[in-house]
Amino acid sequence: MAVKVWTQEELKKISASLEGKDPEKAIKWAVDNFSTGDLALACSFGPEDVVLVDMLVKINPEARIFYLDTDFLFKETIEVKDRIEEKYGITTERYGAKITIKDMEREFGPELWKSDPDKCCDIRKMKPLAEALSTLKSWITGIRRDQAPTRANAPIVSWDAKFNIVKVNPLVRWTSEDVWNYIRANDVPYNPLHDQNYPSIGCGPCTNPVKPGEDPRSGRWAGKEKTECGLHK
Ligand code: SF4
Repeated sequence: MAVKVWTQEELKKISASLEGKDPEKAIKWAVDNFSTGDLALACSFGPEDVVLVDMLVKINPEARIFYLDTDFLFKETIEVKDRIEEKYGITTERYGAKITIKDMEREFGPELWKSDPDKCCDIRKMKPLAEALSTLKSWITGIRRDQAPTRANAPIVSWDAKFNIVKVNPLVRWTSEDVWNYIRANDVPYNPLHDQNYPSIGCGPCTNPVKPGEDPRSGRWAGKEKTECGLHK
């Protein structure tokens, strides 16, 4: 069967038609238009992503879900991965860096995440992400428009020119409150660190707790200009 090639104009229209609708409609559109093997959710096990796991698995229990293991994930993140897999009866796909932390240290010096975080993210996140996306025609992500100015205009469906695949962002219109209401209402497993002032969780060396009232993402790469690892730029 020939694989449909989506034009940017078509994707724009689809995205506009999904505005104002429940996130499940965007997921359903993706599931209906891409084969199970060609579509996957990129899951960091943050609040938005665990919501999407719940929604996606209810629509397609066979759906592909992958995560990026930087080798710097909190043990609580791996534990929530295990709880998610158990609750939904799924196996998530792991993509990781081709070099160990020790080899990275030998090649680039100690604590690359401090001396050159972009390089570190490139090795441990961007390259594994590119490898995961090379197996797909479409990916689903949990970004929301109010998370950061860089995400304020994120469409629901678009052509991701960086990776040459269709990107689906079902939760763009949701607030953090919407996300947490869904988690509670559906009893979705989540990372317990969120209850300990870690609203946004990435790698151990680059994630700090935030004080009440601070920007939720200010705990990521604190003290550095960096605000994104590059996944959604
Ligand atoms: Fe490295 Fe920090 Fe990026 Fe993780 S978030 S890959 S530790 S720079």
